[in-house]
Amino acid sequence: MNQKKEMLGLIEQLVNIDSGSYYKKGVDKVAEILINQFREMGFQITIKKNKLYGNNVVIQYDENKKTDILIVAHMDTVFPEGTVRERPFTIKGSRAYGPGVIDMKSSLVTLLYAIKALYQQPNNAYKNITIILNSDEEIGSPTSKKLIEKISRTKKYALIMEPARQDGSIVSARRGGGKYILSVKGKAAHSGVSPEDGKSAIEELAHKIIKLQQLNNAQKGISINVGMIEGGEAVNVVPSEAKGMIDVRITSREQARYVRKQIEKICATPDIKGTNITLKGGINRLPLELNQANKKLLLVVQDVADSIGIELKAVHTGGGSDASFPANLGVATIDGLGPIGGGLHNEDEYLEIHSLTERCFLLAETISRLS
Ligand SMILES: [Zn+2]
Repeated sequence: MNQKKEMLGLIEQLVNIDSGSYYKKGVDKVAEILINQFREMGFQITIKKNKLYGNNVVIQYDENKKTDILIVAHMDTVFPEGTVRERPFTIKGSRAYGPGVIDMKSSLVTLLYAIKALYQQPNNAYKNITIILNSDEEIGSPTSKKLIEKISRTKKYALIMEPARQDGSIVSARRGGGKYILSVKGKAAHSGVSPEDGKSAIEELAHKIIKLQQLNNAQKGISINVGMIEGGEAVNVVPSEAKGMIDVRITSREQARYVRKQIEKICATPDIKGTNITLKGGINRLPLELNQANKKLLLVVQDVADSIGIELKAVHTGGGSDASFPANLGVATIDGLGPIGGGLHNEDEYLEIHSLTERCFLLAETISRLS
């Protein structure tokens, strides 16, 4: 089919541009290609410039008109500059491979072609959407979070373009989370001459690590991972500095409050007298919970799927996404509306090519029904 070929061609072009979150040049290049395509259809483009990260882009047919639907898709990947050179876009059998192919270059193309389909019909639903293409989702959306929240406030629905699961399921619930950095300052001393003068920052950090890890509760879906540590200068010196990086995941808003409080409590007082603790960071994404509003929206999407003979399941997943932001402002939100694939953030990341047209139709028809 012609359109599938066209879509694959554009996916190849986008995958072959390195666009890791820290590689602004690449992310901006991806934006430029997409912006041109939307401009051709007469969409208005607002570029929110960033110095450090790629720019965020807002796309809407008529800026002065109120729209009901927000669509969020990110342009950054987890892969650094140079990855494309090592393993560019390839097709093997029914799958396509390459850095960011499913997370989420194929979603970007699916979104574009869904809008194109509405535009060409013509079906005025394309005038009822505001699209945010953001540049920093993979690092927790530091520059786009506020933008997404601001635009969400005027919307009824939010459609998030993270890929569908390997079995085709979309995503109706997600864990939230964030990162903390725990820095400890102690006092250096020679470990042979006068160890009693020292205050070990590493020892203090060790106490904190044990306590933090004890907050884990797999059954309830709370996960605390002190994933990286650093500290010390030499083996014969009582270390004056140590640092721990903590990844936090929670399943409900209630847990977010609880875990936040516990972490602050643990870090409030040192176990080793004379050491000093500073805690930075926090939970920046609240979970996407399957509430009434989200359930209703899910039913619409499932109904559309039904009409084209797909049995569409919805799952709960552990990873976070931008779905958190609109959902926690009370906007009906569904995620996983991109094409089907797997191996996210890995070398064997893939797209199921056959799902491109199907998910494109699903998205276009969903937008149409919501308008
Ligand atoms: Zn993603």
